[in-house]
Parts: sequence; C-alpha cells; structure tokens
Amino acid sequence: TDPLDTEHIRADFPILQREFDGTQLVYLDNAATSQTPEPVIDTIAEYYRTYNANVHRGLHQLSQEASIAYEEAHDRVAEFIGASGGREEIVFTKNTTESMNLVAYAWGLAELGPEDEVVTTQMEHHSSLVTWQQIGKKTGAEVKYIRIDEEGYLDMDHAKELITDDTAMVSVAHVSNTLGTINPVSELAELAHDHGAYIFVDGAQSVPHQPVDVEAIDADFFAFSGHKMCGPTGIGVLYGKRELLESMQPYLYGGSMVRKVTYEETTFEELPWKFEAGTPVIGQGIALAAACDYLDEIGLERIQRHEHELAEYAYDRLTEFEDITVYGPPGDDRVGLVSFNLDSVHAHDLSSILNDHAVAIRAGDHCTQPLHDTLDTAASARASFYLYNTRKEIDALIEGIDDARALFA
Ligand code: PMP
Repeated sequence: TDPLDTEHIRADFPILQREFDGTQLVYLDNAATSQTPEPVIDTIAEYYRTYNANVHRGLHQLSQEASIAYEEAHDRVAEFIGASGGREEIVFTKNTTESMNLVAYAWGLAELGPEDEVVTTQMEHHSSLVTWQQIGKKTGAEVKYIRIDEEGYLDMDHAKELITDDTAMVSVAHVSNTLGTINPVSELAELAHDHGAYIFVDGAQSVPHQPVDVEAIDADFFAFSGHKMCGPTGIGVLYGKRELLESMQPYLYGGSMVRKVTYEETTFEELPWKFEAGTPVIGQGIALAAACDYLDEIGLERIQRHEHELAEYAYDRLTEFEDITVYGPPGDDRVGLVSFNLDSVHAHDLSSILNDHAVAIRAGDHCTQPLHDTLDTAASARASFYLYNTRKEIDALIEGIDDARALFA
C-alpha cells in the first residue's frame, strides 16, 4: 500500500488554504475536530438543495428520498465499523457524549444498583468519566478506575484486580485523547465478559484514524463522533449489540420513536428508531455516510500509517528538548497526537504564540482533568494530526515553540 499523497488530499479541504497575515494555516487540532472535505460538504449541500424533507412519515417524493438516504446512512456506518446487524445496531445521536449518556440512562439507571460496580480508567474523557460518576451517585453503583503506569499505558494487572463478578460495566476509551495510548480493548472485553459484565468502548479517537471492527473487539456498546472523522458536527453514533438495544427502554420519548399511542399507553418503534426521538439528524447522518466513503476510499490503514509516522516524527523532535515534557507512550507506540508542556511557558501562552504562527493546537485539560491531576499538571499543549498533515507542519510547530521559548526566556 502506497503512502498518502498529502498534496492531493489537501486539495479536498478548502479550509486548509486559509491564510492568516499571509501565513498558511497549520491545523493540528484534529483530536478536537477534523476538517471537512469537498465530497462531504457537497453531500450536505446537495441534501439541502435537492431533497431536504422530514423522514419516516412523509409520503411525498422528497420525504421518501430523504428517508431512504437517511436509513441507508445507518447501514453505511454499520459497514464502516463491522456491525453485521446493519442499521438496527446503529443509533444516530448528537455526539459521543450523547451516545454515552444514552447508555448510562437507558441501561445504567435501569440495571445498576448499590451491589454493582462500573470499572473505567484514569484516562477517560469527561464524557464518560462524569457520566458514570453521576450515574454511580444516582444508583449507588461504585465506580472504579484502572490505573495508568508511568508511560501512560493501562495497568492490566490492576484491570484484572478491579474487574470481578461485581462488575456490571467496563467503560474504556479505545484511544486516549490526551496520552495517545491505544488500549487493549479486546482483552478488556474478554475480561468483562468472563465476569458477566458488559463493555462500552469510547471510539471517538479510534474510528477516525484506524480500521475498527466492533465485532472483532466484541464490544457491547461502541460510540464515536462524526465531526472528528471528516463528517459534520451534530452527529454521533451509538453501536449496540442488537439483543442489548432491544432489551433497553428508550432514552428520549416523543415523535418518530413510537408505533401506537393512546392516552394511556405507547408502543415503541423497532430499532434503531426507538432511540431516535423527534426529527433526527438527517443531513448530518447522510453526510456522515459520505465521510465513511471518503475515508474508505483513501484507506484507513494508510491513514493510520501516515499519522503514526507523523506522531513518531513529532515525538522525536519534541523530545530533543530538555525543557519539554511529553506525556504518554513512546513515539513508535502511539496514535497521531502528542500532548506536552514546555517548562517555562504555560500551555495557553504557548498556544497563543503558536496562533501568531497560524499553527492551531489545543491547550488546556482536553476534558481529562483527573488525568491531568494524575500527570501533576493543570494543563498541557496538544498537537493532533490527520490524513492531510505533513512533516513540514510539524516543523512549523517546532519553530513556533522555539519562538515561545525565546519570548519567555
Ligand atoms: N471521548 C474521547 C476520547 C474524545 O476525545 C472526545 C472528544 N474530545 C469525546 C469522547 C467527546 O466527543 P464529543 O465532544 O463529540 O461528544
């Protein structure tokens, strides 16, 4: 398989042509949100230009066209992540956070009690950490955190200690958005299942960047966001094993998710519509399917290899400096993101100086405050890469860091 032709790929992303004071944008904040290629923008525009209508209900031509495209988008996403059950196992939500909350409310509130434990990790994003913590408070279930070791890997011995017959749910990020660690989710799934627990995998940072097969992982639930994978904002996905989704009560009630309603009773629609109350994310869902096509056409293995090379390069360049601390695993064993701190410069100041160089990175806690406490820092700077990034852009990042160092010396 060939390396990526980044020049060609960059031409698909109009936003990358933007310049600030004559300097071309260097976009290294892809773990927060990725940019959108022309075919996806065209798909959204075509939807609004030619067949925008509400779905499921209408008998007119536009509604039929929109309904077919929207429903087929679920099948396309199912195929993208290896869900053989097709649309019935794919619920469209607003984002990963909503997918997480759907499971926490629809499954967690109903199933968890004071005798149960939820096992998660020290490196979870707030979307899962805060959600399980709060559901724990409501249900009395205890939430336990698998430790990370000094290099930023999960301590699997600790995982084996924590996951017991009292565990009802294991909830783990597939890839850490702060450390760049890839977690052994299949192994954790096996551990969970051996103890009769379910596993929820947060795939927000994996699905955009590597081939993912939810059935090979044996995930019971799996969530991710469209806006991190060349798709639009306002759409997320919850995959759930069919029997499990079938056994759960709806999370939101209202129109579209019902079959028969009387003043006294309601029966609910079949999967996945039972979980998509109200007018759903029609344009976004159709555009997400286009993003799947775009990524598949280029090839996720190639994208993964490209980002891996960039991450290794960035890691090597950043660790050349004694005054830079890089968090997480070594350069050859991480995904395409690097969080770090420069000794004398706060991450926010660094980000603002980099902005003067038209280099966009993230500064802050990246929605992992407890993890930052564990790392003994309030904030970090994070550069995160995608298919269109180049080594030259990492050089621009390093130049900006040099400038910040000189300014604060
Ligand atoms: N989990 C991880 C690992 C993430 O990186 C993110 C986004 N930063 C989320 C969950 C939440 O995604 P969203 O904001 O789209 O709900």
